[in-house]
Amino acid sequence: MANYLYDGVFATFAKSSKPFIITPSGTISYSEFSAQTNRIANCLIAAGVAPGDRVAVQAEKSVTQLALYAATIKAGGVYLPLNTAYTPLEVDYFLKDAKPTVIVVSQTSQEAIASFSRALKAVLLTLNKDETGTLQDQAIDASEQFDAVARDSEDLAAILYTSGTTGRSKGAQICHRNLVSNAQVLTDTWQFSGDDILLHMLPIYHTHGLFVACNLLAMVGGSMIFLPKFSVETALTWIPQATTMMGVPTFYTRLLDDEKFTSEATAHMRLFISGSAPLLAETHNRFEARTGQLILERYGMTETNMNTSNPCDGVRLAGTVGQALPGVDLRIVDAQTGKPVHTGEIGIIELKGDNIFLGYWGMAEKTAESFREDGYFITGDMAHQDKNGYVTIVGRDKDLIISGGLNIYPKEVEALIDELDGVVESAVIGVAHKDYGEGVVAVVVTADKTLSLEQITEFLKDKIAKFKQPKAIFFVTSLPRNAMGKVQKADLRKTYANLFSA
Ligand code: AMP
Repeated sequence: MANYLYDGVFATFAKSSKPFIITPSGTISYSEFSAQTNRIANCLIAAGVAPGDRVAVQAEKSVTQLALYAATIKAGGVYLPLNTAYTPLEVDYFLKDAKPTVIVVSQTSQEAIASFSRALKAVLLTLNKDETGTLQDQAIDASEQFDAVARDSEDLAAILYTSGTTGRSKGAQICHRNLVSNAQVLTDTWQFSGDDILLHMLPIYHTHGLFVACNLLAMVGGSMIFLPKFSVETALTWIPQATTMMGVPTFYTRLLDDEKFTSEATAHMRLFISGSAPLLAETHNRFEARTGQLILERYGMTETNMNTSNPCDGVRLAGTVGQALPGVDLRIVDAQTGKPVHTGEIGIIELKGDNIFLGYWGMAEKTAESFREDGYFITGDMAHQDKNGYVTIVGRDKDLIISGGLNIYPKEVEALIDELDGVVESAVIGVAHKDYGEGVVAVVVTADKTLSLEQITEFLKDKIAKFKQPKAIFFVTSLPRNAMGKVQKADLRKTYANLFSA
């Protein structure tokens, strides 16, 4: 019987002796991974997982966890990975919302999760970062034979909770078709083959490290150097064995800060890919100057998988996220009227295609609000597009600042501040202002202690209209970021919330 995602991504090489995963402690072939998948799938069925049941996991990155993903799909379940940074109380919210049949956590959080698990009558198993735990204990004794449970293209494969910068976190429902179509499109666009070895240092609770990376490599029969997390040192150690790398922008800025990251160290690499947060044009240019290679930037989100990409062959434009991927319909519309804007004008990105999720778990109203009547998903990302279709993202709609009734796109002000010598990066936010509604605040990271607030004010004076100029500027040592490298503007807004309201 057919299982759309398992067959489309994992089945082709299931019997191959080719290396699938390379770790510091050894190599796991496709056939070994497949045997592990089958053993875990048998455990899930024994735990009562029926088609459509959720399997929730909050555990440190491990090969077993990746096999748990493949096993959940093969057993007909719905995979629900949770960010390792969530506290037990936060995890409780997700568990109550998704009502999983099986919950897998590390031994250290077992006690904290046990009562939540009991309340849901779920089976609680453990999985530790050294691959030990009760899941593994049971899997060792389970059979290596398992026939995939039938699942259709439209059946649910995963629920991924969005990071929820405003309001409650929402569970994005991803179906089998979403994942197979996106892996196929990315394979073609980025020219991946069985010869590729991907340096994998991303977390696997997020769409980037889990679906973009692992589905793609499994589909083509390539290998992954699978490391617990990113560090410059480990990246430099393993890069000689890799052909490709996927990273968030901070991976690249940190590598560039190390002089051992040279053109010699990267000459053999076929492709460097960046996504999940904006890659500054400056980083793109520095990378080219250092290595002679151009980072390929792409854009996606949990709800949509990947939407746009710069090309493999062809022009990779710094500061842009490239063009819509084949099969993805992208339009940019006016936030108020919903009508398409002219080329070069800023609006909100809306998308339609096989990659777009089914809706938010248990939130019919939120789902309805997020789609237009003609089926387009409203991303909330503000952008403009040039005549060749290259998209430049200027920020989230929620980050748009409205001061005295006028719109300010934070990216425009940030890009100018970043031009100043001594500025490492900046974040521009709007906070409540008693006269203007919102006032512009710039939070700036500097490398040069002599740079003064006055110099920044002076620099901006003739470059942008007065209403766009910050009413307050703060120097900080770093910006708050999540594990995917995204600046947490909501946190900054909270920090400076009362600045102008008194
Ligand atoms: P997530 O759902 O956590 O993957 O976050 C998705 C959001 O990340 C998107 O809606 C964008 O705001 C942002 N994002 C992803 N890739 C890029 C990129 N290349 N440039 C700018 N923003 C990006």
